[in-house]
Amino acid sequence: MKQITVLSGGHGGARFLSGLIHGIRRGTVPGVDTDAQVTVIANTADDLWMHGLKISPDLDTVMYTLGGGLDHERGWGRTQETWSIKEELETYQVPGVWFGLGDRDIATHLVRTQMLEAGYPLSQVTEALCRRWLRPAHGDGVRLIPMSDDRVETHVVIADDDEPSGRRTVHFQEYWVRLRAGVPAEMVLVVGMEQAQPAPGVIEAITEADLVILPPSNPVVSVGTILSVPGVRAAIRSTSAPVVGISPIIGGHHVRGMAEQMLASIGVASTAEAVGLHYGARSGVGVVDGWLVDESDSAALPALEGAGLRAAAVPLWMRDEETTSAIAAAAIALVS
Ligand code: GDP
Ligand code: CA
Repeated sequence: MKQITVLSGGHGGARFLSGLIHGIRRGTVPGVDTDAQVTVIANTADDLWMHGLKISPDLDTVMYTLGGGLDHERGWGRTQETWSIKEELETYQVPGVWFGLGDRDIATHLVRTQMLEAGYPLSQVTEALCRRWLRPAHGDGVRLIPMSDDRVETHVVIADDDEPSGRRTVHFQEYWVRLRAGVPAEMVLVVGMEQAQPAPGVIEAITEADLVILPPSNPVVSVGTILSVPGVRAAIRSTSAPVVGISPIIGGHHVRGMAEQMLASIGVASTAEAVGLHYGARSGVGVVDGWLVDESDSAALPALEGAGLRAAAVPLWMRDEETTSAIAAAAIALVS
């Protein structure tokens, strides 16, 4: 295999990608050429405008992770970060300071915002930013594209007794960062999705791939939003490449993040089995051929196989690049 395409969110997707790429280059992913190209289609529905800056959290998490600039302890943002601007904004009592923006990170958002305002689409802006982050480490071997150049934003409906309607809608980042996903999500709305177009290269990356992977990213607000971009689901269903997914749910819980709350909002149980069945088999009306679950979830295999999926159970904790590249190898073996 020479072309692998991955539909990624932020943290879970980026961790998976670093293990996948590590394994490919070292030749430990059977069936994949060591110089294979990895194309990442990243979720942009988490994007927001804050203090006049365009922020693309998932694009940046992938870019910083693969470029060696991510603060792994925090799980987002830059290494060796400082917080002078945030502290200054706090003293002005500017709203929105709940969204952490470090000084180094802000430089990325300034470049992105300036380029967007000069008329470049997000996909070209991302390509320019990746010249610094991906080119030195990966040459042309890794490409990062936003799912769409159009503004698409995930909003979450939550209960609010102070509102006449009894509910309120907040931006996904407010739900996640300010409210810490601490209240139930009644509904998830993706504003602007119906009018959105896939960014240049997105559909080709799926239809011309030798393999498509849905990494253990959030099935609703990461992979789910990418699949909802008009044309993407159809491309996944029609590509001649096998499509394999890896469960972000282990033993009935997400590993990190808020997949449980998001799955509840769409009426899907937080189990590896339910998420696999939610994606469904391409031989039916779904989007994957194979679904990898954690070894502790092996009881799900008969139901998954009964639904037309190839399924296997292996350790799915992404502890480091070695264990993660073994996950990638198992996923690829499942559909090869
Ligand atoms: P976000 O955009 O930063 O929320 O990141 P993603 O959507 O790409 O990934 C979030 C998902 O990664 C969560 O649902 C987690 O359960 C999942 N995740 C994080 N670490 C691991 C891990 O070690 N193993 C597995 N299987 N899933 C993980
Ligand atoms: Ca995200």
